[in-house]
Amino acid sequence: MPNILAIVGRPNVGKSTLFNRLVGERIAIVDSVSGVTRDRHYGKSEWIGYNFSVIDTGGYVINSDDIFESEICKQVVLAIDEADVILFMVDVNEGVNVMDEDVANLLRKSGKPVIVACNKTDNSKKFFESGEFYSLGLGEVYPISAMTGSGTGELLDEIVKHFKKEDPESETVDLPRFAVVGRPNVGKSSIINAFLGNDRNIVTPIAGTTRDTIYTRYNNFGFDFYLVDTAGVRKKSKVNEDIEFYSVMRSIRAIENSDVCILLIDATQGLETQDLNIYGLIQRNNKGVVVVVNKWDLIEKDSNTHLRYRELILSKLAPFTDVPIIFTSVINKQRIYNVIEAAVNVYNNKTRLISTSKLNEVMLPIVKDNPPPMYKGKTVRIKYVTQIRKEYPMFVFFCNLPQYIKDSYKRFIENKLRQNFDFNGVPITIYFREK
Ligand code: GDP
Ligand code: GDP
Repeated sequence: MPNILAIVGRPNVGKSTLFNRLVGERIAIVDSVSGVTRDRHYGKSEWIGYNFSVIDTGGYVINSDDIFESEICKQVVLAIDEADVILFMVDVNEGVNVMDEDVANLLRKSGKPVIVACNKTDNSKKFFESGEFYSLGLGEVYPISAMTGSGTGELLDEIVKHFKKEDPESETVDLPRFAVVGRPNVGKSSIINAFLGNDRNIVTPIAGTTRDTIYTRYNNFGFDFYLVDTAGVRKKSKVNEDIEFYSVMRSIRAIENSDVCILLIDATQGLETQDLNIYGLIQRNNKGVVVVVNKWDLIEKDSNTHLRYRELILSKLAPFTDVPIIFTSVINKQRIYNVIEAAVNVYNNKTRLISTSKLNEVMLPIVKDNPPPMYKGKTVRIKYVTQIRKEYPMFVFFCNLPQYIKDSYKRFIENKLRQNFDFNGVPITIYFREK
């Protein structure tokens, strides 16, 4: 179960400063491994054994110095829908502002845990001034300095009280979990209806567990899996669906709850920034992915159209391009079952464990013929490789000087792994370690 923290508040109160403090270093680590474009507004954090995702809602506003109040309220409404805990940040130097009061009104009615952080409390004089924010009527006010980190420990202690600790036992799900994600209007509800729609017999909601709200079991035609958060997809938002923030926020929970994501795009629109952001979220969470180009019926075609379209998409998905792409027309019921087949295949790839002997038999000769380039006059020797038992493929190459391995060599190794073993649709992680 994901734990999601959303940071809301007016522009310039220090949301992104705190966000960077919470997730900054982790983003850097993830990036160097996967080569994924960094999303500065979403990341993972950890505090005293609790893992959680952090969303800087303000980061999704284009012109944040000149933002309209209505825009902030929309984000607060979305944060209330999607987050488990909301961190409401205010600025001690500005005092209580009208906008703060309006946000507080929304939050008070939300029923969600809300924690007020009074930022820029850099010294003891400011500390007393932060008391002013008790007037917001949201309980305890946590004076912090996002810049120096002071007060953030107490704040995090309070935040994680509202989170669930990961319990590997209770999280063991027996069947693959697939999530349908994508921008508004690409056809997510339509494809879910096509999967589950008329034949009520194949849909078994799981009663009596917290799963019933998010997982719908599909068991027919030899397929047996859960679809994640179908209700969330079908629920249309009250707010403007065009903002990037909307589709990203709406995707996070479903992605985190899934094994494989079915990313729908609209053939008439192509792959845009928002689609790529969602693709990045999938990768960052180490989930499998199937790209579905829907509304293919609306495209004028000759015999090569889909090949050209495929190339265009792959060029945008780079560097992670080893993914299945399926062209569908949901309204014509075209290739819908290919989507499920592909998702099952990706799931199998994601859970495949290759024996250490097989891995070494294949990879060591490749490494021997193509050793890492010499660095500072030193030779890097790779001794052996093993796959770690993880929820996604992770490989460790043991060698004498791991710090001298360049990203380009990692990419070479990743390509060789992909050529020799089927990891289609699955992000893989490679580490070099000293023995
Ligand atoms: P956002 O628009 O809410 O994301 O705000 P930013 O994180 O971009 O911060 C706005 C400004 O406040 C920047 O100039 C930060 O350096 C500054 N700032 C953030 N946190 C603190 C703090 O704890 N103390 C002080 N004095 N300034 C801060
Ligand atoms: P969602 O917002 O992603 O859930 O998208 P919907 O499933 O609500 O679909 C948005 C619109 O696209 C609806 O009017 C659908 O009828 C239409 N649509 C969905 N799939 C297709 C398709 O394959 N071809 C065409 N032409 N229209 C489609």
